[in-house]
Amino acid sequence: MKIYLNGKFVPESEAKISVFDHGLLYGDGVFEGIRVYSGRIFKLSEHIKRLYVSASAIMLGIPMTQEEFCRAVEETTKVNGVSDGYIRVVVTRGSGNLGLDPRECKEPTVIIIADEIKLYPEEYYEQGLEIITASTRRNSPDALNPMIKSLNYLNNILGKLEATRLGVPEAVMLNRDGYVAECTGDNIFIYKNGELLTPPCSIGALDGITRQLIIQFAREKLRLTVREALFTQFDVQSADECFVCGTGAEILPVVKIDSRPVNGGKVGKITRQLIQEYRRITREG
Ligand code: PMP
Repeated sequence: MKIYLNGKFVPESEAKISVFDHGLLYGDGVFEGIRVYSGRIFKLSEHIKRLYVSASAIMLGIPMTQEEFCRAVEETTKVNGVSDGYIRVVVTRGSGNLGLDPRECKEPTVIIIADEIKLYPEEYYEQGLEIITASTRRNSPDALNPMIKSLNYLNNILGKLEATRLGVPEAVMLNRDGYVAECTGDNIFIYKNGELLTPPCSIGALDGITRQLIIQFAREKLRLTVREALFTQFDVQSADECFVCGTGAEILPVVKIDSRPVNGGKVGKITRQLIQEYRRITREG
């Protein structure tokens, strides 16, 4: 495997960064996860745009234009012969000293990895999965805004630890006020009373690219009423349908939350339609 590291392609065994890199020391950096379907990099410019928005929010200058970044991602994918896979893009503050001060880091570190994708088992898509509500609250937007896709994922990891300890793959995270924000690595939707609802990102969720796409085609293609709305753990537990979504997961139906069955423990009709349409868009263009 060849890794793009600061403008050069290097073998994986030589792709090394300094122990003084502030991405490692402080989680000071930003990242993206992107899918490749049949050689097509899905929503590349949208991901790179979000990368630059995240970087700008932490005052991290990326030493190339968005167009140049897109070309570098395409080249990394091509060099590695990845036609169905996953791309990880990372930009850190770079190497500095042991102090926090980002001004000591002179050059950002830019990393692009194109690899195979480790998919969720197909049975999750057919039979749905069980999730829990984590007791760990999602970061507050006024502390570290979840709209920034930063390298500091400890808040999400604490939620994920709760989920995996209970033997389920994903957890819903509430915000400080008790409203559902998102999951540890996915956005969340519920279908209730004939409406598709997802929390507004302003309450503490990543503005997911999968989420944006679902909102668009649910309205335009499936003619559903879609609304950003505040809802609680109770609303998820009593929803007609529920699913989580993200670049890696795509759309994963939820059939049990906090030990309570959703839709009688069966994958809902609307969720099935959305999965089918999402697969059509990603596989057929
Ligand atoms: N929320 C979080 C916390 C995430 O890490 C991700 C990405 N894995 C998502 C939502 C989904 O975002 P996207 O659809 O852009 O992958």
